[in-house]
Amino acid sequence: MRSLFRAVLSLSLLQAFVNVQAAEASKPLQFYFVDVEGGQATLVVSPSGESLLIDTGWPGYEGRDADRILAAAHQAGLKQIDYVLITHYHRDHVGGVPQLVDGIKVGTFVDHGPNLEDSQVTRADYKAYEKAIAGHAHVLVKPGWELPIKGIQVRVISAAGEHVTEPLLGAGQANSYCAAEPSALVDDTENARSVGVMITYGQFRFLDLGDLTKKKELEIACPNNLLGRVDLFLVTHHGADLSNPKALVWALHPQVAIVDNGARKGASPAAWQVVHDSPGLQDVWQLHYAEESDKAHNTDPERIANVKENCEGKFLNVTAQKDGSFTVINGRTAEEKKYSRKP
Ligand SMILES: [Zn+2]
Ligand SMILES: [Zn+2]
Repeated sequence: MRSLFRAVLSLSLLQAFVNVQAAEASKPLQFYFVDVEGGQATLVVSPSGESLLIDTGWPGYEGRDADRILAAAHQAGLKQIDYVLITHYHRDHVGGVPQLVDGIKVGTFVDHGPNLEDSQVTRADYKAYEKAIAGHAHVLVKPGWELPIKGIQVRVISAAGEHVTEPLLGAGQANSYCAAEPSALVDDTENARSVGVMITYGQFRFLDLGDLTKKKELEIACPNNLLGRVDLFLVTHHGADLSNPKALVWALHPQVAIVDNGARKGASPAAWQVVHDSPGLQDVWQLHYAEESDKAHNTDPERIANVKENCEGKFLNVTAQKDGSFTVINGRTAEEKKYSRKP
């Protein structure tokens, strides 16, 4: 009798365990592409509930960008942000840190190490960052490292001017687009030292290279593409022409591209066209209508989060499943579009 009871008990425990596993397996990986007016702030929420914020937008504007990040965190049900990754020390990425830490608890700050850009403004912004993160856990990362976020894989691709030299799993094929690619200039700004990450959840792959510029992007893509293909690509450097060489973008073969541009920053027509024409690309989504471009180099309004320059700071939300399918939701209209994984 007792052993039967024990058997029943362990069966129900097993069932409970299976139920928890099933619930975790069905939870999506979430992204919130926060509108910080031409900077970056990408909030990533793992199915495990752990969170990663990539960059923090601009300082000033009465805490506008931190407030927008907090609104996304609130919608995601977060009480704290476990990791804040700073791609590089330009103001549109690191500037929001002091206001962010005033508004929400942050676990660990992750970056590429000290600022090496010889400019007054970036030295000042780096100093403000160092001051704001005092007392927080702080990790410097190198290419190839993985951030310890449960439920997803966050692989560092580039950092401090270095990059992975071995292909990621399944990648490393010769890249036929390299032959026609013009050579790129050396960039000694913080952009070239951006921390880039590949985030993987089952079959789903997302790439964010911060503001990496062409020379470094090409080192990763040519002569062999070390990254392989991605499902979702955050267009590098807000869609600027200094970044996004065809040999990288086309080899990545993204299904969907998101541009974190501002009304008058990023989404340059030439870079936009490279992304738009990428083989296999289904849609470009934008955080803003690019005012200085033209209609032919902006995506359809239904895929733009903010159509007016004087905007409400709406975001784009992506939910990704383990099988590689994902849905993009326009925070302005609540309309969504589902993308299934191609064979
Ligand atoms: Zn930037
Ligand atoms: Zn930058």
